[in-house]
Amino acid sequence: MKIGISACLLGHRCRYDGTDKRNDELIKLLDGHELIPICPESSAGFPVPHEPIELKDNKAYLKDETDVTEQLYKGCLKCLKMIEDCDFVILKSKSPSCGYKKIYDGSFNGTLIDGNGMFTDLCLHNDMKLFSENDLDKIRGYISR
Ligand code: SF4
Repeated sequence: MKIGISACLLGHRCRYDGTDKRNDELIKLLDGHELIPICPESSAGFPVPHEPIELKDNKAYLKDETDVTEQLYKGCLKCLKMIEDCDFVILKSKSPSCGYKKIYDGSFNGTLIDGNGMFTDLCLHNDMKLFSENDLDKIRGYISR
């Protein structure tokens, strides 16, 4: 299968703080499949490290309140092109770009709310099949159908 995946889950140090979220169990599960790493924030041209981003009222802001909605959206569109022929996509939870079902609330104080990252919403609008890294059993079931 061809699978789009948040690059930080594969060990790319592309997170806002210069770290990764490598997930060895997930990487092992995906062994033998074609992986397409994507990072909407890197594709948007944000340097690493950069100020954290959160979403509020359908807009994206840096912690210093700079509106980066348009910049981030351009990065999301670039990534969508890279994964549009994938069988499914695995996205990093809680991210303002890749988060699925839970994201931070825009107050930069660690409060989670129901919602999706900007890239996640774009994928859903384009009928992509999505999982987060917390859906290992579901992913296992999907690839062994
Ligand atoms: Fe990972 Fe997505 Fe954040 Fe990039 S934008 S660091 S891929 S969660």
